[in-house]
Amino acid sequence: MRIHTVSPSDSFSDPGREYRASEPGVPLRCCLRKSLEAEPVWLFRYSPSSGKGPYAEVGPVFTHVDCPEAPSLDRLPVELLNNPRILRSYNAAGQIVDGEVAEPGSFDRAIAGLLNNPAIESVQVRSVSHGCFFFAVTRA
Ligand SMILES: [Zn+2]
Repeated sequence: MRIHTVSPSDSFSDPGREYRASEPGVPLRCCLRKSLEAEPVWLFRYSPSSGKGPYAEVGPVFTHVDCPEAPSLDRLPVELLNNPRILRSYNAAGQIVDGEVAEPGSFDRAIAGLLNNPAIESVQVRSVSHGCFFFAVTRA
């Protein structure tokens, strides 16, 4: 599988982006871990590319201002998968195929199972409580 993150430079497409000098504990979509004390972050509106047309959604995401590390793009990020997450799958036309809740410990199996379905092009991982987009997964 291949993980798709959000670049801090994506924040520049949102003129309403907010700079936070310190916002510890928020899920960072650039390096797929929680923010630390005194790490400057952007909070901005982002539309994941897997949803298209009426299925294109915009929601809030955090990234570093200057991301200090590159995440592994071929393994699921452990730090953001310690709670149940929504797995929302999309077809090549950008329409929602299905949605389900996955529990910690079952993400690899659940995502691999979804990507074994030829009708599914990508899977978005989202928070259960807020519905916020975390990252997307496609076949390698
Ligand atoms: Zn980062």
